[in-house]
Amino acid sequence: MRSPSTRADEKPASAIERKLVRLGLKDRQDFVVHLPIRYEDETRVVPIASLRAGQTAQVEGQVVHSEVQFRPRRQLFALVADETSELALRWLNFYPSQHKQMAAGKRVRVRGEVRVGFSGREMVHPKVTAAGGDLPKALTPIYPTTDGLMQSTLRRAIDQALGEADLSDTLPPEICAQYELIPFAQAIRVLHHPPPDVSYADLMEHGHPAWRRIKFDELLAQQLSLAAARAARLKQRAHSLAGGDLAAALLRQLPFALTAAQERVVAEIRHDLNQSFPMHRLLQGDVGSGKTVVAALAAAQAIASGSQVAIMAPTEILAEQHFQKLAAWLEPLGVEIRWLTGSINAKARREVAEAMASGRAQLVIGTQALIQHKVTFARLDLVVLDEQHRFGVGQRLQLSRKGETGPDTMIPHQLNMSATPIPRTLAMTFFADLDVSVIDELPPGRSPVLTKLVADTRREEVMSRVIDEVRLGRQAYWVCPLVEESEALQLQTAVDTHARLSQALPDLRVGLVHGRLKSADKASVMQNFRDGRIDVLVATTVIEVGVDIPNASLMVIEHAERFGLAQLHQLRGRIGRGTLQSVCVLMYQAPLSQVARQRLRAMYETTDGFEIARRDLEQRGPGEFLGVRQSGLELLRFASLQTDARIVLQAQSAAREMRTDFPAQAQAHLARWMRGKQDFLRS
Ligand code: ADP
Ligand code: MG
Repeated sequence: MRSPSTRADEKPASAIERKLVRLGLKDRQDFVVHLPIRYEDETRVVPIASLRAGQTAQVEGQVVHSEVQFRPRRQLFALVADETSELALRWLNFYPSQHKQMAAGKRVRVRGEVRVGFSGREMVHPKVTAAGGDLPKALTPIYPTTDGLMQSTLRRAIDQALGEADLSDTLPPEICAQYELIPFAQAIRVLHHPPPDVSYADLMEHGHPAWRRIKFDELLAQQLSLAAARAARLKQRAHSLAGGDLAAALLRQLPFALTAAQERVVAEIRHDLNQSFPMHRLLQGDVGSGKTVVAALAAAQAIASGSQVAIMAPTEILAEQHFQKLAAWLEPLGVEIRWLTGSINAKARREVAEAMASGRAQLVIGTQALIQHKVTFARLDLVVLDEQHRFGVGQRLQLSRKGETGPDTMIPHQLNMSATPIPRTLAMTFFADLDVSVIDELPPGRSPVLTKLVADTRREEVMSRVIDEVRLGRQAYWVCPLVEESEALQLQTAVDTHARLSQALPDLRVGLVHGRLKSADKASVMQNFRDGRIDVLVATTVIEVGVDIPNASLMVIEHAERFGLAQLHQLRGRIGRGTLQSVCVLMYQAPLSQVARQRLRAMYETTDGFEIARRDLEQRGPGEFLGVRQSGLELLRFASLQTDARIVLQAQSAAREMRTDFPAQAQAHLARWMRGKQDFLRS
């Protein structure tokens, strides 16, 4: 027979372990940096008279009275007094032993949250021990925990790890002195067991030097890891693409001259493509700033060098538009272009795949299908991701790894384009291995879009505005409300909106485009709108990114309060793309939530994508902003990009010094802080 006692011993241990793992606590170093969210002060007893409502405190006194009451309900009631005042105690559930513990005349130490009821100060379900015992010397840490894992258990596990773990400093004394950092071991000890004289506010608001050290360490690890990724990239090999004639020919053919900003970024990219290690560049430029032509020029340079180029867009509509535009620009120059999305038929796909594999197709434009299907290129040397923020982290990784098989593999150059600018601190912390180019100027002749906030009770006015606009020979988008809960409902809403508008505007040609349309139908609706055969296009967010139809000068967004800031900015970016004065009507339904009001105000106040991104980051935080929340990866646990921008800068320069002067310590530091996270940062 198996001994029941060993089983009883084992079972709780493994259950606890599972819970610890759920908190991310596996080895000692994990426990070391599992830091308290707050503290309780059990180091002192305070006079009862000093107690304030809401405070958690500890007092000592004598029980002057206790009884079991039956009204308003059964409870144990006791009154405790010290020299200053009296405190009422109540237990709604209690054991006889507790009643005995509270016998009149006993001296007790009582700890709990203070409430002020009509009978004066009281505590409900306080913790009671005998008076006069030793008081702890440090504040009691309260840790983030998970269901069923008690603070005391967690505390014991952490204290044990603290006793066994290596807390030696990974930073050399020079770095600590230069950046005024306290030793790691000291910071860790203070944060787990702060001495009672530490300012509680400093601890809670993360202003204490111990917190500063931890945040510095975290940011430093991130910078070191990004620098390592960069160094690794510089060691990779890529074809150097020097061909320039085709790009020059394309430039001569364009109906416009490049802006100074476009010229600058084109030169930066040209330089990168000339190198024999892969480019990793982010091209940022506000909606309508003209990124497509920059991509086309880069593609031309690669193609002239005998390479193949892939351009990926997040939606079929956008991929189709790119295909049309680039075909018009490049086919006359003799370039072979193909297109690949999820919805082309098997025969066409086989043809495209064959053209890619043989090298005949010089430029392939498509959606995610480009990486989802098994496709091989003869000589892929440049990958362009348009609207890169719309691709998941995983997808970006997959693409950059395409064809990577051995140490001598040629890696394609990569150009990421985005109209959602990444604020500086964020770029420095998460994209430091991307070189950034910025188009900070719009093509000449554009006037900023006028934005109007209109309550949906004024729908009639908005309709007549649409009619006026169409009479002037222009076109309008009508964006349907977002229905996040259900795609079917979203579709229904689009169909309903289309029916309603068609009826209300009988003299206008009203079209409809949404994500469920067959791709051929989608393409033909977009073509009709582009060619002016549709006056008003009712659309879901399928038109959110990239769509470029300059004659559309009015956009109405229904239930604008349901959209996110970045999304509204992208949608609004569909108009104001020609020289016409454009108007964006944000229709909303009152009452507005606080956040929605802030968002709409931001849209009203500015058309600057950088400013909008800054406010968006402020409202949503980096995880949501970067769209990596779902990936389950924690970005920063301790540092905050909003408040610790200065530490980010310091960590960046410290990372440079560590890498050149203290490489061994840099390694040790990474090992302590970055287990399992490096791969993500590399994307
Ligand atoms: P985005 O940066 O949003 O992708 P696009 O590349 O779609 O912008 O360009 C927006 C519009 O501006 C397009 O119609 C494009 O042809 C036009 N365009 C681009 N560069 C210039 C320029 N230098 N002068 C005039 N028009 C331009
Ligand atoms: Mg674009």
